[in-house]
Amino acid sequence: MNYVFTPEKVFFQEDSLSYPLGQKLYSSFKSKGIPIKIMKSIRITSLSEKTPEERYRQAKRILAVTVKKSLRFATCKPSAHFQLPLSTSCPGRCEYCYLQTTLGTQPYLRVYVNLDQVLQKAQEHIESRAPRVTLFEASATSDPVALEPWTNSLYKVIQYFGKQRYGKLRFVTKFTGVDTLIKAKHNGNTHIRFSLNSDKVIKNHEKGTPPLHQRLEAAQKIARAEYPLGFILAPLLIYPGWEKDYRTLLEVIKKKITSYEKNNLTFELITHRFTKRAKNIILERFPGSQLQMEESKRQFKWGQFGYGKYLYLPEEREKIKSFFLENIEELFPEAHVEYFI
Ligand code: SF4
Repeated sequence: MNYVFTPEKVFFQEDSLSYPLGQKLYSSFKSKGIPIKIMKSIRITSLSEKTPEERYRQAKRILAVTVKKSLRFATCKPSAHFQLPLSTSCPGRCEYCYLQTTLGTQPYLRVYVNLDQVLQKAQEHIESRAPRVTLFEASATSDPVALEPWTNSLYKVIQYFGKQRYGKLRFVTKFTGVDTLIKAKHNGNTHIRFSLNSDKVIKNHEKGTPPLHQRLEAAQKIARAEYPLGFILAPLLIYPGWEKDYRTLLEVIKKKITSYEKNNLTFELITHRFTKRAKNIILERFPGSQLQMEESKRQFKWGQFGYGKYLYLPEEREKIKSFFLENIEELFPEAHVEYFI
């Protein structure tokens, strides 16, 4: 069974209704009886009176359908050349989400309906860099698969990149709404990665996301559709029994993804780290969190963006690294580990 996110309330920016996707979403949500409000510009004042925890939970159940006004694509180093803006935020409530510090106090979901204009801009970037390949990342500010069953936007975007000689797409997801994607003519130009973790970590820290076995079923569909496929194992956490749990995770992946010879399977490995600001936001939004964030047990390191992060100690990172490299080498000898950080 697929997990499909259904918003509790949908706000439409008036302009969005003049686009086919805006109209389609309006009809879909109306027919489901979901409360709808049309506004000239979106302002969700009902959230401001709540506690950070309530505000966060409620924002994650609200969807705004809008027009992406600024078509200046942000850069996305080092993983891609540009971000491809399709949506912002996602219904998941992962405690360590990379968006905790970037989406402000009201991280409600936003989906952009002017897809043709977004792709037109992508086309300009591709042409200006050709014959060099331009790589776009569709998950820099959201999980783009979460809303796919409603929008079909990713399907169209994948079809678009399938026809490109000098443009490629990549994104990562924890969601499972891939049934439209398996029909797309991707031509090997879209690299789809699934973000996975041990069962225990998913249950404790990734609320509002599909469980491991559903993510793997979705990954198997993507593997069968012959997409370039990858797994991001992140954040890698040390806790009692972590080696046993992560070995089980790798074995379950091996069992579920039965043939990946045509998928150029990749792994990306990211150990847990946090900033002081992220820690404060996490503790406000998840007061009972079990996430270990004791600065005194970590190594502080300045990052390239001018703020510091707390990493596991060098010897702990080394232990995690050898554990994963050895186990991946044993279970997935054809796979490529793109990086470990
Ligand atoms: S699924 Fe991804 S984007 Fe959504 S909350 Fe979790 S980490 Fe953030």
